[in-house]
Amino acid sequence: MMARIGSKDTKPELVLRKTLHAMGFRYQLHRADLPGKPDLVFPKHQAVCFVHGCFWHRHTGCDFASVPKTRPDFWRIKFKKNTERDRRNISELQSKGWRTAVVWECHLVKHNTNETIESLTSWLIDRADTRPFESHIQNTK
Ligand SMILES: [Zn+2]
Repeated sequence: MMARIGSKDTKPELVLRKTLHAMGFRYQLHRADLPGKPDLVFPKHQAVCFVHGCFWHRHTGCDFASVPKTRPDFWRIKFKKNTERDRRNISELQSKGWRTAVVWECHLVKHNTNETIESLTSWLIDRADTRPFESHIQNTK
């Protein structure tokens, strides 16, 4: 079950893609020529977006970012590598002039989806906003 989280074309990412496409946003998928192969690339908006699985990418304070009880050291090293790679990709993209967004998967499920997509799209269309975007939810679950 865990192996599915974070793989390509997982369901929360599809929800995001379909909604954005219906709203008129155009994007490219998993562009291999960019650091980290961002899940979505918006050339017109000079922006890239990663949809991060909370488990593999370690969403801070998230219920889905649990640590498996078996082989804790293995997981600690693995997680450290993942988060360091994420940080490196983001900063490389930024130095190439891309605006970067991270959307956490748990923010694309159930009642969170609309709020997440709304905040992402308002960031997307505001090309002057060079601050990195990271999804978060106002109301508690
Ligand atoms: Zn999460």
